[in-house]
Amino acid sequence: MLQLIRPMERLGQLYRALKQSFADLEQLLQLLEETPEVGDRPGAVELPPGRGAIAFEHVGFGYGKGRGTLEEIDFAVPPGAKVALVGPTGAGKSTVARLLFRFYDPQAGRIVVDGRDIRDVTQASLRAAIAVVPQDTVLFNDTIGYNIGFGRPGAGQAEIEAAARAAELHDFIAALPDGYATLVGERGLKLSGGEKQRVAIARAVLKNPRIFILDEATSALDSATEKAVQENLARVCRGTTTLVIAHRLSTVVDADIILVLEGGRIVEQGDHATLLRRGGLYATLWRRQAETPGTGEVDEGVETNE
Ligand code: ATP
Repeated sequence: MLQLIRPMERLGQLYRALKQSFADLEQLLQLLEETPEVGDRPGAVELPPGRGAIAFEHVGFGYGKGRGTLEEIDFAVPPGAKVALVGPTGAGKSTVARLLFRFYDPQAGRIVVDGRDIRDVTQASLRAAIAVVPQDTVLFNDTIGYNIGFGRPGAGQAEIEAAARAAELHDFIAALPDGYATLVGERGLKLSGGEKQRVAIARAVLKNPRIFILDEATSALDSATEKAVQENLARVCRGTTTLVIAHRLSTVVDADIILVLEGGRIVEQGDHATLLRRGGLYATLWRRQAETPGTGEVDEGVETNE
């Protein structure tokens, strides 16, 4: 019986983890049932080898009939570049990331990864190529080693440790009496927000992805921890194509491409210096943030602390 309960428990935990990590899973599951086209096409191929080049070509998308959420989204990210999505709440930043992960298919245009329309490749191969670092990391009631290894089923202990080292988590784990066998979660060791973020980073590193999607935390971490996590992420992602859903402009200054979204459209696009010179929405958001130090929130300058 216990053997049965454990997997069931895992499933429940996994469901909660997924739900938190990429918004509305319930709606997503509904959508998958209703729209069977979000699945592998007959003859779908493996994503061909590549270094994570991304192109959105005139992409249009709406969640419901007649409601356009994204329109004319057009941008290209060369392999290894960092692209940041900024803009007010509801502008469509997360939706862009969800489309790249192929939670939904666009109604217009196409999304190309390493030269292939992502509708023509198997979902398994697309998703194996992309690692998501979510806003909040949910831990399973299991060992810390299991929680990291979850990033890539079948990973060996040495690989798990290497990922933990990259995420600057290894020394912390090694100092625990039970090391990687330490139980975490509701019934085990409670990890701090920063430690949990590092578990998320280790999971992502273990995947050795072509593309990182970072869903920046809107709050939760104190600023010193936040800075340490950001530095760690920057180091881990360097050289790998990275798409950041940014809520703070301070973390996008070094992005190769900043896409400024408003009302589902890209209203500006360029690097930090170019966008500041332009004196448009980005420059306004930047000024507002500078005037309210400490908040760093992009969302219409409102001091939110969700
Ligand atoms: P935030 O900064 O608040 O996270 P965002 O820029 O990431 O916002 P999205 O989450 O992409 O914005 O949402 C864009 C629009 O699509 C919003 O109007 C939102 O209400 C709507 N939307 C998002 N998810 C769904 C969904 N599953 N079903 C219907 N509408 C949705």
